[in-house]
Amino acid sequence: MDTTRFIARHVATLPKSGIRDFFEIVAKMKDVISLGIGEPDFTTPWHIREAAIYALEKGKTHYTSNLGLIELRRAICEYVARHYGVAYRPEDEVLVTVGVSEAIDIALRALINPGDRVMFHQPCYVSYHPSVTLTHGVGVPVPTHAVDGFALTAAALRAAWQPGCKVLLLNLPCNPTGGTCDRAQLEAIAQFCIERDLLVISDEIYSELTFEGEHVSLASLPRMQERTIFLHGFSKAFAMTGWRIGYACGPAVLIDAMMKVHQYSMMCASILSQEAAVEALLRGEDGVKRMREQYHRRRDFVIRRFNEIGLTCHRPRGSFYAFPSVAVTGLSERDFALGLLEKERVAVVPGTAFGENGRGFVRACFATGYDQLVEACTRIERFVQSRR
Ligand code: PLP
Repeated sequence: MDTTRFIARHVATLPKSGIRDFFEIVAKMKDVISLGIGEPDFTTPWHIREAAIYALEKGKTHYTSNLGLIELRRAICEYVARHYGVAYRPEDEVLVTVGVSEAIDIALRALINPGDRVMFHQPCYVSYHPSVTLTHGVGVPVPTHAVDGFALTAAALRAAWQPGCKVLLLNLPCNPTGGTCDRAQLEAIAQFCIERDLLVISDEIYSELTFEGEHVSLASLPRMQERTIFLHGFSKAFAMTGWRIGYACGPAVLIDAMMKVHQYSMMCASILSQEAAVEALLRGEDGVKRMREQYHRRRDFVIRRFNEIGLTCHRPRGSFYAFPSVAVTGLSERDFALGLLEKERVAVVPGTAFGENGRGFVRACFATGYDQLVEACTRIERFVQSRR
């Protein structure tokens, strides 16, 4: 029996993630240096793992409140106020989620009516456009460019805006480009959002990994807290990808709407992950600082080497991604990535996995050991020279 006819049309036509596709090929190969998957090479710091072990020993094996443990929500509010300058109430303005992934999904599901338009800068995180499509919304990509360090500009937003736009989905610093915005650029974006009455979903998952300059949260700008859902999590800065834990902060009515979707789908995030997250927020900042210093050193090395090799690359101010152009090789981003993998066993992700505006670029994640990065760059240089 052909069961494909049972699949909903909008799911059947949804493309699979370009990253997964590519990494199925990588998984079958030996001796590959992977600069592909966007996750820290560090294991979660021991004291955080230990907190989860203790919690398990104490028999903490039950559901928590749908909103998440109150101790965790208090710790989140304290952390967000201290680092981002935005005050939220732990009782009704914070929701603990299963990673930022769930927070993006339930924020969109709580906000979008069929046909509503969602703006997002592109290249962007692989899940943004599909998540919009899954809520029967319409994605409106706003291009960012290497010449601006892939910062989102108010001018680009103005040019892309169309009637029906309701939400702006923002990720600064950005996966895959490492691009971010300074305060003046953010003020112009805030002004645009107020003028056009847009609600902002601000995904700040890489904010601790800002190497120079300040990270400014859009929610902290005047009149923006009331129209922003601030998303954050533990995966990147605390090296906790496998724990699946994140959170959303925002106006109580919006958090309540998101909570309804969360309550009927997830119920709550894992209690052990929540216990570990409390420890991360209370005592994890030295670990974050140490990991950031490593990423910073790796960034400086990788960006210098890519530019020496001829793969022009802007210096990402944040995240752990480099996004070089492969134009010098005369290859498309996909042929570059496939050729490099086949000839030199180095995996990078074709830029088009992050949307049309990633054409001509590849993403290289430098959350990989320094020695591995040195070897990867030697191999990439050999590959680029073979194309000249
Ligand atoms: N948002 C961005 C921009 C990401 O890059 C990622 C993961 O790569 C996520 C969200 C998902 O994070 P989490 O592990 O918290 O679900």
